Amino acid sequence: MLEQAYSLSLTAIFGFAAVVFVLLFFVSAPYSRYQRGGWGPTVAARTAWIVMESPAVFVIALCGLYRNHSLGSVPLFLFLIWQIHYMYRTFVFPFMMSSGSKRFPVLLILFAMVFNTANGYANGYNLFLSGRLYETGWFLDIRFLAGLAAFFIGFIVHVRSDTALRRLRRSSGDDYQIPRGGLFEYISAPNYSGEMFQWLGWALLTWSLAGLAFAVFTIANLLPRAVHHHRWYREHFSDYPQRRRAVIPFLG
Ligand code: NDP
Repeated sequence: MLEQAYSLSLTAIFGFAAVVFVLLFFVSAPYSRYQRGGWGPTVAARTAWIVMESPAVFVIALCGLYRNHSLGSVPLFLFLIWQIHYMYRTFVFPFMMSSGSKRFPVLLILFAMVFNTANGYANGYNLFLSGRLYETGWFLDIRFLAGLAAFFIGFIVHVRSDTALRRLRRSSGDDYQIPRGGLFEYISAPNYSGEMFQWLGWALLTWSLAGLAFAVFTIANLLPRAVHHHRWYREHFSDYPQRRRAVIPFLG
């Protein structure tokens, strides 16, 4: 039963990734600067972020509570860094937003909740229910160390970028400005690049199919959006810096 749910979750995540990747190159996800009508009822953006990210916090915690083997230090550590990210995304990031007029379609929230439930379960299953033993020696494995470095570099990059964008939003009212400084000098959406790098790190440091599925989905979701942002800035600002790229500095 647990294993079937795990297979179903993985299939769903890889399936979502394929669909979302193709779809998002043609249609920009309808929130923030792409907010528009025709997507059904909406709720305030802050509420949306809290509601849709919550399953990622709670589902993996439930897997930990109902684990079928004793809690090793490696799964515990992996669980804690997962929660550092999701506590930030669910309970800190939404309160950094101005309580402005931005809305979020309920349809997108429902999709994100299904995704976060499947993803929380797949990763929770890998850590706590699969019977896989991460020995303490894993802390010294090169895959763990490289993945951990990528995870925290990505985390710092996206949190710093989120913070810079929030500051910009506060200073520019409802308008958009060209973000300046740091990685914004090289790429249009370092928040997305950081997030993609972080979850690639997670795939490496957990060395698991669940981690890989999450990294693949994140790239499928954020790469097209980063390309849309880049194009949007170029269309809206005639003085947009020429050397700035979409996702990877100096590339493209
Ligand atoms: P955006 O960059 O679209 O917006 C982030 C915030 O910054 C919004 O409040 C936005 O305001 C504001 N902002 C952005 N650009 C400007 C600008 N030029 N001038 C003024 N204000 C600006 O990011 P998302 O909302 O899409 O994502 C937020 C975070 O969530 C990111 O860190 C991202 O990596 C993560 N995320 C992760 C996903 C995953 O699959 N793992 C999926 C989606 C997001 P406004 O709302 O008015 O546009």
